[in-house]
Amino acid sequence: MYIQRFDPWKSKLCTCPEKYSLNPYTGCGHRCLYCYATAFIKNFYSPRPKKNFIKKVKSELQKIPPGSLISLSNSSDPYQPLEKTYFHTRNFLELLESKNFKLLIITKSDLVLRDLPILKNLNCVVSITITTKKYFRILEPGAPSYEKRLYAIKTLSKAGILVTARIDPVIPFLNDEEVIKIFEEVAPWVKHITTSTYKAKRDSFARLKKAFPEKAKLWQELYFVKGKKIEGAWYLPEDLRKELLYPLFEKAKEFGISIAACREGIKEFSAKEKCDGSFLIDKFLFNELKE
Ligand code: SF4
Repeated sequence: MYIQRFDPWKSKLCTCPEKYSLNPYTGCGHRCLYCYATAFIKNFYSPRPKKNFIKKVKSELQKIPPGSLISLSNSSDPYQPLEKTYFHTRNFLELLESKNFKLLIITKSDLVLRDLPILKNLNCVVSITITTKKYFRILEPGAPSYEKRLYAIKTLSKAGILVTARIDPVIPFLNDEEVIKIFEEVAPWVKHITTSTYKAKRDSFARLKKAFPEKAKLWQELYFVKGKKIEGAWYLPEDLRKELLYPLFEKAKEFGISIAACREGIKEFSAKEKCDGSFLIDKFLFNELKE
């Protein structure tokens, strides 16, 4: 099945609402150093289109209850470079046009703007991940620039699309200071922020250490000496995670927008069923959500 129930390893820390997950591609050409999906998908940085994609997805959609939320995508970017050639994401959006589903798009690419006319006809939220202005060329070497992502956020928002930003992951002593500036830049254009600290997995941590050798010793100690392993990933000490995320939550209050942290397990930072921003569909398109 290409459309599957979203179930991140039955994680107790996940506060996402019930949803389905669809990845038009296997692997991802954005090649982010911190990517978690590389730990469980082979040859992740050699992305390939899913076979018979539209035919299969068309038939699978018949089996999903109408009104369900579909998340595109959770372990690859639906607007990664391959999309310019294969149009899987676009073809899927066209399939949805006559159907009553909710859609959450998560991407780092301004290529999403190509499909703006279709998005206007869907019950959708677009979440743009925007992590660093200083280091995106190193951290996310295959992804569009900071400026292009910011432009995408503004353009979608001006066109009336519900937009959220993922300021994620926050990496200590790397982008932890600039995330405040990023927050201030995106806040006027988005209705929700999702954030989280970087959780170390063996392969992503090795890539980060190689790219930033001067930080290796410090990170090693923070994650593997002072931190702890939770559900298969190494977390920073809770105090430090609070210190890193707290300023973003304060900024959210200042700007009057909602914010939630992803899989931190810290009560004051989580927002059950609101973390991914998909609640905006009910709140703004269906006026259903009781605050
Ligand atoms: S865009 Fe997402 S899926 Fe693609 S490499 Fe980056 S973190 Fe991984």
